[in-house]
Amino acid sequence: MKSVDEHLDEIMAVVRPLGGLDLTLPDAHGCVLVEDVTSTFPLPPFDNSAMDGYAVRAVDVAQASESSPVVLPVVGDVAAGSTSPYTVQPGLCVRIMTGAPMPPGADTVVPLEDTDGGLAQVAIRSSPAPGSCVRLAGEDAQPGTLVLAAGTHLGATQLGLLAAVGRDRVVVRPRPRVVVLSTGSELVEPGQPLSRGQIPDSNSALLTAAALEAGAIAYRVGIVPDDPRLLADTLEDQLIRADVIVTSGGVSVGAYDVVKEVLSRVGTVKFDRIAMQPGMPQGFGTIGPEQVPFFGLPGNPVSSYVSFEVFVRPALRRMLGVEPISRPVIRARVSESVRSPLGRRSYLRGWLSVEQGAYTVRPVGGSGSHLIASLAASNALIVVPEASTEVEAGAAVTVMMLERRQQ
Ligand code: AMP
Ligand code: MG
Repeated sequence: MKSVDEHLDEIMAVVRPLGGLDLTLPDAHGCVLVEDVTSTFPLPPFDNSAMDGYAVRAVDVAQASESSPVVLPVVGDVAAGSTSPYTVQPGLCVRIMTGAPMPPGADTVVPLEDTDGGLAQVAIRSSPAPGSCVRLAGEDAQPGTLVLAAGTHLGATQLGLLAAVGRDRVVVRPRPRVVVLSTGSELVEPGQPLSRGQIPDSNSALLTAAALEAGAIAYRVGIVPDDPRLLADTLEDQLIRADVIVTSGGVSVGAYDVVKEVLSRVGTVKFDRIAMQPGMPQGFGTIGPEQVPFFGLPGNPVSSYVSFEVFVRPALRRMLGVEPISRPVIRARVSESVRSPLGRRSYLRGWLSVEQGAYTVRPVGGSGSHLIASLAASNALIVVPEASTEVEAGAAVTVMMLERRQQ
């Protein structure tokens, strides 16, 4: 059997970050920048008021106080977005709103709260220092400043900055497009009636969502019966829109293990036994003229999911160019003893919580790889190394955290 690390290394040696694509800001959300972004104009673009108030010359209000206000005539209003032509001559002022351009001549804004709010003339009760409440052009970024470097992961705040510097498109690594299909003649679309021997296809829903959570675009193709011809045709059709293909089922040694039958003859795909539980049978390689990475995951839902987390997610993250490629791993105390087969790395379902300031993980459900109910009640995988067969209650274990955040 091949080790988990060996298999993952082989996968990571094949997958490459996707090439840059010019995308609109919403489409670039969650992606990694491929270009350096510099500002072409100052940020803010012009001197403007930080408050609603009155634009003045500081010297004109230097003597103002609560007990002896200075009264100035108001020559007009400047609103945000205004192109008003007012200039503040000595001894005069302009009523100004937050974000409005500073009128020439004025160097200071007196906040509305420090005045009587007058329209024709205003009584000013404070003497702010010159430059108060004025946001200077370029104080956030001068023209030509590198505002976001290539390699930056674009979250909400970075998209805001891109918009602020006037960008509507950026070159990023696009989200990999993942085609997900389930093989199995026993499978039925969820919601459809079941005859004896049939089960709903849960893997394509699970793997599509997991791919989205990993940052990919996922296409759920759904069910392909265990028919070599149909599978080959479906793969052929889907290759055109795929950066990655993920199938579930049909990779072990059963008589109708159609993925193994068809894919063994295609591209570089190999079927291996990996020293892990669940998830022992795995198919991986590249197919089609574009050498699209192909993952043939085992059919049991827990095996499929664990295989996705251990092998597919890191590959998708590598394609996106984002770190970390794997889920966060921490050490926690296990609340009950757990067992694991010698020579295999086990991934057991668990519930991770913080108790008295320390991570504790409680095993959830049995080790059967069909137990999707206990999988859905877990937020972590307890990782028991190959050499251990038992971990005592209270001992420290490695835990993979499965936060359900999309990025
Ligand atoms: P296989 O890997 O095709 O031998 O399937 C192993 C087990 O997983 C069988 O019990 C299948 O019925 C089950 N299985 C396979 N594919 C799915 C699926 N898409 N949804 C739910 N169960 C599945
Ligand atoms: Mg099957």
